Amino acid sequence: MSAVDATRVIRCPNCGRKNRVPAAASGRPRCANCHQTLPWIADALDDTFAEIAEQADLPVIVDMWATWCGPCRMVSPVLEELAAERAGEVKLVKVDVDRAPLLSSRFTVQAVPTLMIIDHGEVIARQAGAAPVAVLRRWFDDAMLRQRRARKGARDGGEGGTPHDRS
Ligand SMILES: [Zn+2]
Repeated sequence: MSAVDATRVIRCPNCGRKNRVPAAASGRPRCANCHQTLPWIADALDDTFAEIAEQADLPVIVDMWATWCGPCRMVSPVLEELAAERAGEVKLVKVDVDRAPLLSSRFTVQAVPTLMIIDHGEVIARQAGAAPVAVLRRWFDDAMLRQRRARKGARDGGEGGTPHDRS
């Protein structure tokens, strides 16, 4: 099973029950009371990132943040809102860059917040700076759409997806 035993208390958006949700687990966390899929939010550092983010079996939004960063405090609830909207489809993993020097250098984080989408260990999108929920929702959904198209292209005989229009 998991070497990571960290948990986080997450309030069920449906019934209000507080659930203790493991940072790394298979499947999707569900509310112990009403059985709704819960938003999945976890904290990771250098030694736990691989298991919590890269080995997750669902897409991960990584929030590289810092305690002293104003925009990080703005984007944090926005990301939590998105994690609640897309419960069961995404995991939100928060990394305090000051406590994760290896990750900061590996992902060349030059500004906080830096946001990344990781799908099965692969970084498929990244952006620096805070943004409103509508922008981040679209950023996430577009990245997922590109992934689905790329997978479909690979399955259909290697023709690849259509080039993505970045305009
Ligand atoms: Zn519930």
